[in-house]
Amino acid sequence: MKRKQTLLAFASTLAVGVAGFAGSASALDVTIEDIMNDQATVDDVVSNGLGPRGHRYSPLDILNKDNIKNLYPVWSFSFGGEKQRGQESQPLIKDGVMYVTGSYSRMWAIDVASGEELWQYDARLPEGILPCCDVVNRGAAILGDKVFFGTLDAKIVALDAKTGKVIWRKTIGDYEAGYSYTAAPLIVPTETHGPLILTGNSGGEFGIVGAVEARHPDTGELIWKRPTIEGHMGQYKGEDSTMTGTVNESWAGDQWKNGGGAVWLGGTYDPGEKLAYFGTSNPAPWNSHLRPGDNKWTASRIAINPENGEVQWAFQTTPHDGWDYDGVNEFISFDMEKDGETIKAGATADRNGFFYVLDRTNGEFISADPFVQNINWASGIDENGRPIEIPENRPGNPAESADGKKGKSVMAIPSFLGGKNWMPMAYSPDTSNFYIPSNEWAMDIWNEPVTYKKGAAYLGAGFTIKPIFDDYIGSLKAMDPATGEIKWEYKNKAPLWGGVMTTGGGLVFTGTPEGFLKAFDDETGEELWKFQTGTGIVSSPITWEQDGEQYVAIVTGWGGAVPLWGGEVAKVVSYLNQGGSVWVFKVPEGLASK
Ligand code: CA
Ligand code: CA
Repeated sequence: MKRKQTLLAFASTLAVGVAGFAGSASALDVTIEDIMNDQATVDDVVSNGLGPRGHRYSPLDILNKDNIKNLYPVWSFSFGGEKQRGQESQPLIKDGVMYVTGSYSRMWAIDVASGEELWQYDARLPEGILPCCDVVNRGAAILGDKVFFGTLDAKIVALDAKTGKVIWRKTIGDYEAGYSYTAAPLIVPTETHGPLILTGNSGGEFGIVGAVEARHPDTGELIWKRPTIEGHMGQYKGEDSTMTGTVNESWAGDQWKNGGGAVWLGGTYDPGEKLAYFGTSNPAPWNSHLRPGDNKWTASRIAINPENGEVQWAFQTTPHDGWDYDGVNEFISFDMEKDGETIKAGATADRNGFFYVLDRTNGEFISADPFVQNINWASGIDENGRPIEIPENRPGNPAESADGKKGKSVMAIPSFLGGKNWMPMAYSPDTSNFYIPSNEWAMDIWNEPVTYKKGAAYLGAGFTIKPIFDDYIGSLKAMDPATGEIKWEYKNKAPLWGGVMTTGGGLVFTGTPEGFLKAFDDETGEELWKFQTGTGIVSSPITWEQDGEQYVAIVTGWGGAVPLWGGEVAKVVSYLNQGGSVWVFKVPEGLASK
């Protein structure tokens, strides 16, 4: 089965190659079907997550457990300049061209065969942008003859894929109020409008209001907007549509007006249910005593109907969050075999330390299991999916302190950077396991008074993150979603901050801040291969087939939130050097069967 898919893909690669050789100037044409079928078509990568469900699984098995030892670099491409901050991007591949984004809202097109630059685009960023957690970008989207990506000044730009010239540019939010954008956009089909391009927003630390917006890919015209915070009005084709929830149902007073719930990580889409899934950040401010109530729909997963932007269902993982447990983590649709039944499930590994399985059709809770150790803010999740909170581990109310300036400090696990942060997990239909990049760490956290001021940090909290164990923080885990059992674990000294990929060849790839791209056995966790790239890896790998050979690519460049927010952990990893490159690997011809 796998081999057949590979051969079919090989045939289509040849067809493309012939067209190119004939001197055809035909424009790039990525269709919505190409995007929906991305996981099965191994000769391209045209979506973030290697398919709309975001499994980060490639059926390719040319590269396998036996020959991975022969995997060598083909070329490396430097992003250049002095803009060497964190590189969290996942490249796209189409017709022998790589489209890759970098720090400070830059993008390149690169010839995969030679590693040569075809074009570079630099967004001209204004003074005063307010990215909370490094100047990262997590990747582009592609459709028709255009590539799309979001920029740190909260804009989305459409570029001509052949030339890198701007076709349109639209504003997502006011960067002076703290809005920014770092995620890869999501392209989904609709019957009413044709394909739409969906974006969220960043800025949960500045009291922005989370929202998902859908635009027409040809013009950038806004089709609909869905705010994530109760009380805010949605839009459809330039008119008010429906309010999200009801004013003050789970918020007190006017707090919902600057309520957070940023949609700062990209969404996923299930072609079966025709639903787009997004997650939302912490409520604002962090000091929970200033906003009584559950604060919906912060720290939640929201399923949206892409036809009209209406909420199909929502599920809140951390009601009345008091620890900055953003619930943005990707929601991955998969079919789960349990007790002889096939369940239309979806899974998400939450920043709060629990791995949730929900019914993806209606959001109903199925199970939640801890995927990190020593969680102490909750003792578990009840049968309705609500955390069983341990009240003494919620940071105290400053109003109850002697001088009113600092509430009781608590030691909470996980830290606010999460059991898992942005870095996406992978799902293998071969093993039925999820491969979760996680971190074992704690924080001291306390609350302080704060009032909202446009463009200023809106936290009302102080904190420091610290390790729990002497020898490691990072932990890559294989988890069985049907039982919650952890099948194997790889421990890494520095915190893991990069995405995971798994393949039909039985391999699990991820990068480390220490600079290694590593491959593991998907069944045992045995480390089979590693390569030192010279700077930390905090991005997500891809793989594809070209001319009968399997390639692997990874963006490198240490950075992201850990060095900026990591407290004692940041000191431990302060020796790591920055960078900014793409590395491409393959097994040299003749060594594939050795
Ligand atoms: Ca593909
Ligand atoms: Ca946050």
